[in-house]
Amino acid sequence: MTKNKVLLTILPLTWPNMPPIGLGFLQAFLEEKGIGADIIDFNHYFYALSGQLLQKQWVVSCNTSFEETIFSLIRENHPDEFDNVIERMLAYDVIGFSCFKSNLSMSLCVAKVLKSKKTDVKLVFGGPEITRQFFKGDGVFREDIFQPADYLIVGEGEIPLLNYLSGKKCRGKVARFEQLQTLKDIPFPMYYGVDLKRYPKKHAIPLQFSRGCIRRCNFCSERLLYKGFRTRSRESILDEIAYHKEKNNTKYFIFYDSLINANIKELDLLCDGIIEKFGSIHWEAQIAVRNDMDQPLFYKMKQSGCYNLFVGLESASDNTLKNMNKGFSYDDALGFFNALHKERLFFGVSIIVGYPDETEEDFRNTLSFIIRNKKIIPQIAQVNPFTYYDGTNTDKMSDYKSNPVAMERMEIFVGEIKKNKIRHTNAFLGNLIEKNDRDK
Ligand code: SF4
Repeated sequence: MTKNKVLLTILPLTWPNMPPIGLGFLQAFLEEKGIGADIIDFNHYFYALSGQLLQKQWVVSCNTSFEETIFSLIRENHPDEFDNVIERMLAYDVIGFSCFKSNLSMSLCVAKVLKSKKTDVKLVFGGPEITRQFFKGDGVFREDIFQPADYLIVGEGEIPLLNYLSGKKCRGKVARFEQLQTLKDIPFPMYYGVDLKRYPKKHAIPLQFSRGCIRRCNFCSERLLYKGFRTRSRESILDEIAYHKEKNNTKYFIFYDSLINANIKELDLLCDGIIEKFGSIHWEAQIAVRNDMDQPLFYKMKQSGCYNLFVGLESASDNTLKNMNKGFSYDDALGFFNALHKERLFFGVSIIVGYPDETEEDFRNTLSFIIRNKKIIPQIAQVNPFTYYDGTNTDKMSDYKSNPVAMERMEIFVGEIKKNKIRHTNAFLGNLIEKNDRDK
């Protein structure tokens, strides 16, 4: 039986492949402040219990109807285990839920059960979906979220959760954007009590070197979650890599940063640090197209073990790039891809079709860019029609649901990349379209 009174948990459905990094940071932060908290990843627990068919559904993105039925499914398929999970949760005084769009429904259902059994259990909801819901309701939460919650965290979790747990007087039950001034001293996740060996992605760990983004793409939700851009100390991330290599035999390091090259100098020093300390590690990350990175840095990235990069190209039309506020041009993108190609750095690009005001010509320019440069762009990482995200600077009416042109362009794009034998993964073609719409 745990001695800790605080539980940090994540419920189905979310990606089950690696440990929940957000909870890892919260646990390490609270621990440093003298508050012990357990992490129990019930998402992974129920995923592991499920049969192959359900597991397959689990990793399908935007699977809304499945997300809404998973609570009943688990209760029916695993009644004893479900009851046991509730009992385990009720052993704690405070339970923090990490909420994503895909697990909000299950989190609310479980909250109801918990409150019906122990009225004084304190429930805290945080995570990106709570921030999205805040914007969706213009600062007012839906009743089914507001009512069961004792505390709601909009934005980053460390400071508000610490304040709440240490009994500091909080104004109302919604914390808004109370984030750490700096990440320089933030302790890294060690996942105490979590069996990392159980996760499907073997020998892999998520890392986060920075939070926030230096860019302001109009369609993106990143700036909603974090205000400004902050970087951890290089020493801390190198210590984290060393710790997981030694303790967990970790071989793959997956950066969850918005951009690994938001601060070029820091990236350069990070690569130096990896090379100096480890020679090379296997790492992957998201990266922005920039025209101010020198070739030696691309070389260093390769030397330090970068094996995969995700580039948010989105369009190769200067008009659309400008409308998106992407912060780079067609020429910048071409130069950047050539620089990656020169060092044999593997990467994939993501594309959005049907963005507001994208003309047929803009769309055709993007398509022909991809076909023309298929020798230097190793793969299409994902293609999606424009999808609106609450709180962003874009037109809701251009969302693919009310924009047949976006769907038509999507079909044309996918047909052309297949015809031209451009490398891609089927699961990421239209992965942001709700599954019900994909199946139509
Ligand atoms: S660069 Fe990426 S993370 Fe940053 S604002 Fe643009 S889309 Fe969002």
